[in-house]
Amino acid sequence: MTSTPELGPVAYHRGEFTDARAAQLPLTTQGLHYGTGVFEGIRAHLLDSGDLAVFRLGDHLDRLLAGARLLRVDTGATRDQLTDVVVELLRRNGFAADVYLRPLAYKLGLLPGTRPGVGLTGVSDALSIVVSKLGDYQPPQGIRCLISSWRRPARSAVPVRAKITGGYVNNALALDEARCSGYDDAILLDDRGLVAEATTANVFAVRDGVLVTPPATGDRLPGITRDTVLTLAADLGIDRVESELDSADLLQADELFLTGTGCGVSPVVEIAGRPVGTGRPGPVGAALRETYDQTIRGRRPDTRGWLTTVALAEALR
Ligand code: PMP
Repeated sequence: MTSTPELGPVAYHRGEFTDARAAQLPLTTQGLHYGTGVFEGIRAHLLDSGDLAVFRLGDHLDRLLAGARLLRVDTGATRDQLTDVVVELLRRNGFAADVYLRPLAYKLGLLPGTRPGVGLTGVSDALSIVVSKLGDYQPPQGIRCLISSWRRPARSAVPVRAKITGGYVNNALALDEARCSGYDDAILLDDRGLVAEATTANVFAVRDGVLVTPPATGDRLPGITRDTVLTLAADLGIDRVESELDSADLLQADELFLTGTGCGVSPVVEIAGRPVGTGRPGPVGAALRETYDQTIRGRRPDTRGWLTTVALAEALR
């Protein structure tokens, strides 16, 4: 388990590959003041061949570019160009290990003649990408979750289909509350008191052998891992429904787990002070976790084109 990720030496910053530690931004960066940025979390895994495979890169870039469009951020690059940038960045960093990629597209500075304010027009844009070495960071024996006192903002207030930087103040407060109360993570409810999501993951429950997760259309990020897990559950013949969950559903579940690019498939063994099921990771979550891990590591046939393979230099393998 890794706690502090090691930053890769090379970043992509404002159109160039550059020294990640030396890259700088002006103190007036608008995205920093107003949360007008959009980011992604992408993982690449070391294959048995010694190469890296980025998982669902196209889907992550689509989500990034759609979010950037919403915020009127011009990344200056197409999906194909960004794919090439990511591949080159991984080569240049030369980590022969599991890594995490963090692209960030944001509003930068007022253009001449623009009135100051929280606007999206008349402001220049930028895109940066950093890479960190990051292995599994959630313990396989499971985590403990609080049901947060913070509610997830409605999609009518903050868009949910993109990872908008400003929106993450809600997630940060919820995680802080959870950690200060001795928990690992928090599950947030929406305005109606129904399960929205965890601080950086979607929520799945298992009840009487049926996998249940709230619909992708609610006040939550429709996660790429969520979609992957539903697809793999279908492959494995696991019964599944997309249906709202409330707090009682969480307390009564036989199994609970979280899904996200960062945490993978992460069992929840305690919720709001009560054991989930037996208090140990359950069989449905374990089967999906195993299948997910094999999928991202290229140990199952990549029939859906989810893997972008990056050949590392011979010396690194
Ligand atoms: N919800 C939130 C709020 C997140 O930040 C994340 C992590 N990106 C997720 C869900 C899971 O999304 P994904 O599976 O696409 O990483």
